[in-house]
Amino acid sequence: MDIRTRYLQEMGITQWVSRDPGLHPTSEMVVGQNLNIKAKDFIQTDQVMTDLSAQVDICRQCDLHRTRYTTVFGVGPIPADLMIVGEAPSAEDDRQGIPFVGRAGQLLASMLFSIGFELEDVYIANSLKCRPPDDRDPLAEELAHCNPFLLQQIQRIQPKVILTLGKVAVQSLLNTSESLAQLRNSGQLREVVGVPLIATYHPAYLLQSPAAKSESWKDLCRARQLLINGSSG
Ligand code: SF4
Repeated sequence: MDIRTRYLQEMGITQWVSRDPGLHPTSEMVVGQNLNIKAKDFIQTDQVMTDLSAQVDICRQCDLHRTRYTTVFGVGPIPADLMIVGEAPSAEDDRQGIPFVGRAGQLLASMLFSIGFELEDVYIANSLKCRPPDDRDPLAEELAHCNPFLLQQIQRIQPKVILTLGKVAVQSLLNTSESLAQLRNSGQLREVVGVPLIATYHPAYLLQSPAAKSESWKDLCRARQLLINGSSG
């Protein structure tokens, strides 16, 4: 079984054929290790993001600074066509300072791979830069304090599409209380600071609810369509 077939099967997709010959990645990904190397490279070459990352490192605007081991700023190329926004660092992310390490990161890699991207092609960040204790849900005031960092990242990265993972990320970015189901199914294309946004499930949820992978696959296809044609329809 080739790598692509294995990843598509993990996504719950049995058949998918790309019409774009440019969308056929050929190499295996090493989750975490690659991101670490890339993050260092990119941070060294972008002064604006270096300065922003330094601000995050010393940020004490909410109580999460008391319990974090380290901040988790974000990783990826600058600029990047596709930006991923998750919720908050996991325990492992908090230890390593890198978003989406561990099983959720591996599934995210599979999700991206299934639409022709590798992890190092995309910029990955979270709504919160510090881990909430015991992985509790982020509080509204924590998100309000941290959101300006994320907006500055978006403006610097200049993505063509933002893919949000889970309800917290999309609700926070759009400042809405609409449910993830409403946001996914409305058919209305949302934007944040002028960038089209597609909402889908968080990989951690998909690990617990594999039946939702096929719905997530539709969201990924919409994101890919937007990137290629500038339209999700
Ligand atoms: S979560 Fe965000 S606002 Fe709160 S301390 Fe960390 S960087 Fe600052």
